[in-house]
Amino acid sequence: MAEVFDYIVVGGGMSGIIAARDLANAGHRVILLEARPRLGGRVFTDSALGGQLDMGGGYVHWTQASVWSELQRYGLDKTLKPPPSPETLYWLADGKVHQMENGNRHGLAEPLLKQMLGDARLLFPKPLDLNGVSDLQDESLKQRIDKLNLSSYDRDVLEGTLAGLVHDLSLHSALQMLHGVSAYMGQRTPKPKYS
Ligand SMILES: Cc1cc2nc3c(=O)[nH]c(=O)nc-3n(C[C@H](O)[C@H](O)[C@H](O)COP(=O)(O)OP(=O)(O)OC[C@H]3O[C@@H](n4cnc5c(N)ncnc54)[C@H](O)[C@@H]3O)c2cc1C
Repeated sequence: MAEVFDYIVVGGGMSGIIAARDLANAGHRVILLEARPRLGGRVFTDSALGGQLDMGGGYVHWTQASVWSELQRYGLDKTLKPPPSPETLYWLADGKVHQMENGNRHGLAEPLLKQMLGDARLLFPKPLDLNGVSDLQDESLKQRIDKLNLSSYDRDVLEGTLAGLVHDLSLHSALQMLHGVSAYMGQRTPKPKYS
C-alpha cells in the first residue's frame, strides 16, 4: 500500500530541513524531497587546502534570529570560528598594488565604511521597523559614494571592499545596505557629513 503523508517539503536546504523537522515534531507525517545527493542546499562545507572550507553560507551573526536559534539548539554557536586573517594583505588602489604584513582588511576600509554608512542606526534605530526612510529609497550606493568626494585611492579601497558584496554599485540600493548595517553593526555612529 502506498505511504500517505500529510506534508511534502520540497528542498533540503536549511529552510526545508527545519520545516520538515518542525512538522514531524508536531506529529505530522512528512516527506522531504531533495534533488541533490546531499542536504544543506546553499550551505555546504567541503574539504580543501588541508582544511574545511565553506563553499556557501559561512558567516552568521546573532542578529539572524532564526538561524542563530538553530545554532544554539544544537550547541553550534559555541563552535564558531572567526574568519582567518591573511599573513600578507595586497590591495590595488589608485593604479598601484599596496601591501601590508599581518594586514587587517577590515581596518583598511573601516573609516571609509563609517563615512558611507555611519547613519545606518539613525535611519533604522529599530532594524525590523522599516518605516520612515522612504526619501532614501531611490539612492544607489554609487550616488551615496559620489557624495563623499573621496580621493581616487580611498574610492578604490572602498569599492574594492564592497566588490565582494555588491555586483553593481549603480544598481544596488543604499537603503538595503544601510538596513543591513543597522541590524549587524554594533554601536550607533555619528551622522556622516556630506559635501
Ligand atoms: C556563496 C554563498 C555564500 C553565502 N554566504 C552566506 C553567509 O555568509 N551568511 C548567510 O547568512 N547566508 C549566506 N548565504 C545565503 C544562505 O546560504 C542561504 O540564504 C540559505 O542557505 C538558503 O537556505 P534555503 O533552505 O532557503 O535554500 P537552499 O539552501 O537554496 O535550499 C534549497 C534546496 O532545494 C533543493 N531544490 C530546489 N528545487 C528542488 C526541486 N524541484 N526538488 C527537490 N529539491 C529541490 C536544492 O537542491 C536545495 O538543496 C550564502 C549563499 C551563497 C550561495
